[in-house]
Amino acid sequence: MERLFKPSRVVELLTKYDFRFSKSLGQNFLIDGNVVRKIVDSAGITGEDNILEIGPGIGTLTEELALRGKKVVAVEIDEKLKELLKESLPYDNVKIYFEDVLKADLKQIAEENFGTESFKVVANLPYYVTTPIISKLIEDDLNIESITVMIQKEVANRFVAKPDTKDYGSLSVFIQFYSDVNYEFTVPSTVFMPKPNVDSAVVNLKIKEDLPKIDREKFFKVVKAAFSKRRKTLINSLSSYGFPIDKNELTKVLLVSNIDPKRRAETLTSEEFIVLSINFPNI
Ligand code: SAM
Repeated sequence: MERLFKPSRVVELLTKYDFRFSKSLGQNFLIDGNVVRKIVDSAGITGEDNILEIGPGIGTLTEELALRGKKVVAVEIDEKLKELLKESLPYDNVKIYFEDVLKADLKQIAEENFGTESFKVVANLPYYVTTPIISKLIEDDLNIESITVMIQKEVANRFVAKPDTKDYGSLSVFIQFYSDVNYEFTVPSTVFMPKPNVDSAVVNLKIKEDLPKIDREKFFKVVKAAFSKRRKTLINSLSSYGFPIDKNELTKVLLVSNIDPKRRAETLTSEEFIVLSINFPNI
């Protein structure tokens, strides 16, 4: 049987099942074996690994994961792919749930399939919901070792951005708070059917085991407020954000945290944001 990344096989399946791509569901399917293999290499998949995939599409990446991993559980929103996937993935170690991943009970799905074992997430994500999906994966308290995903290149640049660069923002602080993130490789739009309008990139997030024991909700509120007016000084962006704290008190909080109130948010490291949020009044 021809592999699913072969364009001729993709066309054969799409024609047989009269499948129409949905742009609004971010359906751009991979048609390049090298990229499929490189994603699975970046995830470091071995025969010991349990895998959660989001959005299997016609199963191109799923197939490579099934051949190299232990068990693959995939969550796909589009029920129109049900019959097609029955034919395209004749593997015993693959199980597909037809659900919106943002509404799915991932804890239960993981427990049902992997018991107490950890798992890796591998996906070519639908770009319109990249951040909500990653936030859910990170914050749902799942037993995830790593997340290897293809996303829009521009978003990947923000994930890995360091202070004092144009891409550094609250998303960089959020991702780097929870994980050690690595930019793996860039992917041109030509390896998809249909071709998206943007370039893509694969990133690998190794979830940190020992997170700082801080009030995370307060931390992310402070980060968001600090970046709300990127071009302004910290004291201006924080004081105009609407916290019930006056400018004098905010100045004191910044000084106690050893941060010059005239600095801008994009110059602060995560560690500085952590100190600032610890000293910040409850909000
Ligand atoms: N993995 C396939 C590949 O690489 O060829 C398809 C990737 S395509 C970029 C994204 C997939 O995610 C599509 O199959 C789409 O239907 C699915 N999808 C979109 N939104 C979703 C959601 N909220 N929950 C689960 N799957 C979703």
